[in-house]
Amino acid sequence: MPELVLVLNEKEIEKKVSLMADKISKDYLNKNLVVIGILKGSFIFMADLVRKLSIPCEIDFIGASSYGFEDKSSGTIKITKDINIDIKDKHILLVEDIIDTGLTLKHLKHYLKGSGAAEIKVCTLLDKHERRKLEVEIDYTCHRIDEGFIVGYGIDYAEKYRNLPAIYHIKT
Ligand code: 5GP
Repeated sequence: MPELVLVLNEKEIEKKVSLMADKISKDYLNKNLVVIGILKGSFIFMADLVRKLSIPCEIDFIGASSYGFEDKSSGTIKITKDINIDIKDKHILLVEDIIDTGLTLKHLKHYLKGSGAAEIKVCTLLDKHERRKLEVEIDYTCHRIDEGFIVGYGIDYAEKYRNLPAIYHIKT
């Protein structure tokens, strides 16, 4: 059995997500906000975040996958599920679980810009800043980590562990 080492417990996550939601609610006051979650890893973070917003918003999801080894981004990003709502002239907040090399985000921002959004900002649960290959602007970050493979709170290892309520390093 792989060993799980706790990174953030439920209370710590709740606090960080609340702080982020407060900031977003202030920044997007009187703007047409569309929150777009990047599947599948962001689904729990997204659900918690939007329930803490005090402003109206529209919600959609986009699917992206990077092919290659299970624990590494390959550099080739494919859209596996497109958004369904019109984002023209709207303010987009992309919700990511982990920003690692930055490739996924760069690709998705470029893709969504083509749909006429007024602005695209990014929030992430985790920022693996030391592994960045492409410079990407992150507007809101819950927590920074240095290394290791993460599971729990929506994030998987071979499709398992998404349902864990806390965030762990998995040692395989
Ligand atoms: P990037 O394109 O920034 O290299 O990779 C971002 C995506 O890689 C994340 O959305 C996530 O799906 C995946 N990823 C990066 N680090 C981890 C990790 O530690 N655990 C898991 N499960 N996925 C990761």
